[in-house]
Amino acid sequence: MSDTIRVRFAPSPTGPLHIGGVRTALYNFLFAKKHGGTFVLRIEDTDQNRFVEGAQSYIIEALNWCGIPYDEGPGKEGGYGPYKQSERGHLYKQYAEQLINEGKAYYAFDSAEDLVALRKQYETEGKTFIYNWHNRGQLDNSLSMSADELQSRLDRGEDHVIRFLSPESESLHLKDIVRGDMTIDTSTLDDKVLFKSDGMPTYHLANIVDDHLMEITHVIRGEEWLPSLALHQLLYNAFNWEAPLFAHLPLILKPTGKGKLSKRDGEKMGFPVFPLEWSDPQTKEVSKGFREEGYFPEAVINFLAFLGWNPGTEQELFNINELIDAFDLERVHKAGARFDPEKTNWYNHQYMQFQSNKELAKSFKTSRPELSDVDLTYIKMVVGLIKERATFVNEFWDLSHYFFQAPSSYDQKAVKKAVKDDTADLLEEVAQIIMHTREITVQNLESKVKSWITENNIGFGRVMMPLRLALVGALQGPDVFEIIFMIGKNESIRRIEAAINQEG
Ligand code: GLU
Repeated sequence: MSDTIRVRFAPSPTGPLHIGGVRTALYNFLFAKKHGGTFVLRIEDTDQNRFVEGAQSYIIEALNWCGIPYDEGPGKEGGYGPYKQSERGHLYKQYAEQLINEGKAYYAFDSAEDLVALRKQYETEGKTFIYNWHNRGQLDNSLSMSADELQSRLDRGEDHVIRFLSPESESLHLKDIVRGDMTIDTSTLDDKVLFKSDGMPTYHLANIVDDHLMEITHVIRGEEWLPSLALHQLLYNAFNWEAPLFAHLPLILKPTGKGKLSKRDGEKMGFPVFPLEWSDPQTKEVSKGFREEGYFPEAVINFLAFLGWNPGTEQELFNINELIDAFDLERVHKAGARFDPEKTNWYNHQYMQFQSNKELAKSFKTSRPELSDVDLTYIKMVVGLIKERATFVNEFWDLSHYFFQAPSSYDQKAVKKAVKDDTADLLEEVAQIIMHTREITVQNLESKVKSWITENNIGFGRVMMPLRLALVGALQGPDVFEIIFMIGKNESIRRIEAAINQEG
């Protein structure tokens, strides 16, 4: 094993990357960075039937958007390439043959139909069909035929696969950083196919060979691969290779905590489960992405880090460097992690406050045609006033339209509450005060209006509520004097007059 840490994220390009996959990539990234190691991206595309156009570039774009780019992988040669298994096709056969020559694997000619029939037959007898030590002697494979017969069937080009000869009854010790030690009785394992009749290796063979050739030191992957660990360990043993250390990450569960978080859960409950929007090339179905829904990548990374790990302190907000410092595989949980859409939004709200007003103003401006002619500096100031109430940029308009446009209607409930017989007279006086304030500053306005209210014993609500209603159209928004300051003297007076002139 090499001294430097080398980890890999090894997705199959079968569609968009689920956030569970992003979490796996993130933990690999954090672990590599923490230990000054290398984070490799390997595309596992040996199953050509499941290949989906655009999935590889989606994966790369998603990692980049999340801020967890790979060090080595497609387009980033690091001396262990190619990083796409379909481009490594020529490498695998020799390893399968090596195992055959050493009596650790064998050729099998059973057709798919034969196997289906056998499976059915077993089922009717109430048994499960497993291709292994207990029946391999009676099946159509090289263990049950002469060398000549085997040679002539191979020479005739008969369809065949190569199967691993799993040991009949061994106690196999497995280690996992998250799960601890396990012991497996190998008699329950089946003789998995290592090499397919289409000339391609299966996931198991290609994965082991590549992890070995790429000098991977730690395999950090989803829990769904735990059942493959025994076979993988047996393969390392069979090749006499030192196995990497394994860490199987817990599942990400539905918000109810029951079952794995799926695409359908997101659709039903209205939240994304993919980092970027995905449009299925075949069905044209579009699935939401965190990016397009207005989540900040820092927020996505932060909440994902906490789905299956915690730092053991009260701190919840971690930027990527803090995550790198704090992350530890030993603190990854065994139990599944419940996805909580509200908590996810809470993170976005927090990260909204960390964004620069200028950047937010830019995205706000491009998102609304009404703002195309508005000065960015003004938008920036508006953003500074409203962002503490927002979770997403797409809420900005509702929170701030009155900074850009006079109200076109008034919230009727608020009118009932705020407007009394003397409201028009009071507003008229406020308009006068504003008009006679030479230097419009928040403080100036506030002290003038407030002292007028106290000196005349008017009561704040009687003035402030209708004033807000006149300026905003509803009883919402930041400090009224901030609003007057922002929209300016003339516009404020115009809005107050318009409200006074409203009938009813
Ligand atoms: N290609 C597998 C996947 O799609 C990789 C599993 C592993 O990391 O070993 O998740």
